[in-house]
Amino acid sequence: MSGSQRSLVETAVTIHPPSIERNGGCTRVQCRVDGFHQDCIWFKIEPDPGISSVEQIADAFVLPGILGTVACGRDVTFGFAVSEMLLLNLRAAILPLLLRLHPDLFPSTATIKAEGVAREPSAAARGSATGLSCGLDSLATIADLLKLPVSHSRRLAATAFFDTGNHDPLHTGDTSPLFVERTAKARFCAAEIKLPLFVVQSNVDDWFPGAFARLHTLRNVSAAFLLAPRVRHYVYANAAPLWATRCSSADSAYLDSVLLPLLSTEALTFHSGTPALDSVSKARLIAGLPVAHRHLNVCLYEGHNCSRCEKCLRRMLTLDVVGALQAFSDVFDLEAYADARSWYIGYVLTYASRQAPLQELADAMRATGFVRSADFAHRAGWWSERARRALRRRCGLAVDRF
Ligand SMILES: [Zn+2]
Repeated sequence: MSGSQRSLVETAVTIHPPSIERNGGCTRVQCRVDGFHQDCIWFKIEPDPGISSVEQIADAFVLPGILGTVACGRDVTFGFAVSEMLLLNLRAAILPLLLRLHPDLFPSTATIKAEGVAREPSAAARGSATGLSCGLDSLATIADLLKLPVSHSRRLAATAFFDTGNHDPLHTGDTSPLFVERTAKARFCAAEIKLPLFVVQSNVDDWFPGAFARLHTLRNVSAAFLLAPRVRHYVYANAAPLWATRCSSADSAYLDSVLLPLLSTEALTFHSGTPALDSVSKARLIAGLPVAHRHLNVCLYEGHNCSRCEKCLRRMLTLDVVGALQAFSDVFDLEAYADARSWYIGYVLTYASRQAPLQELADAMRATGFVRSADFAHRAGWWSERARRALRRRCGLAVDRF
């Protein structure tokens, strides 16, 4: 054996075939891992989507297994067959793209040893599923899918709620209270639109390198593979419209339109939710949707809308621009918005050229006449608010998260 072959044997991580455990209504699927500091990859899904064999859901382990080991400079061997379409696209496009885009996360390439297999679509799989975070992107995607004819192949048949590392921003523990609270809201919303909700927890946050936003598309797609026994399509609620597509190392949303087709397999295809809508157009789409009036939930920090953080204020202003904010008085504190409205408009106008989400909002405000020549007053309001916050911080007083 040559030195390089010996080195490969010594460094390769082995991911063993998945196993399935059922406990009450919860199904846990996991792969044991040898030769790595993490000893397994696991997902829990509730209710069971009809998993009858490990082959149906085995591709869920491919992305965390490969990206987690490559990030540590390790080769990886899969002890089970992997979708040949996914394997080909990972080797030919996805990994080279990630290495170029995230050199800090993936300093060098690695060898992937796996057998490729053409996946058979599950016999019971019908229609599509999408994530039900109850955010603007999510509800706009659902509104769009529900307009399809009942006979359409991509008609919405199921919803999903994932924990792939996005509900514990402070990394306080395994079961995040935020996840529990947001799951409860998603259940109410799913019941109202009369669709099943599949809740998935996982340890993929231990496998994917970097902050959640950098690879969120890949994290969530890995969980979505668990729905292959139930649906033929997974529709990913896009945060950025097609024309904003670009290589961003900070947020994978800007590459969804490139990544999603590459992540599709013979059994499950991935699509972008509302690729031709920006946030203002999405607000118009959900403006008359009663389920959105009751369940829109956008806050980055709380299980309900705090109405004070930047994300809450941005969504309230977006709804205000399209003339729909009053209809959302059950989910937002409109008095808090009224207090912040002028300076937040100033904030958007001041930083629009630096941040795409603020730019589309600023463009919409000007196009609709929402702000007029007096926008100087709004900008002055923002600088005044900024100074107030700085003073409070210097005095050791609390300020809203923004
Ligand atoms: Zn908030």
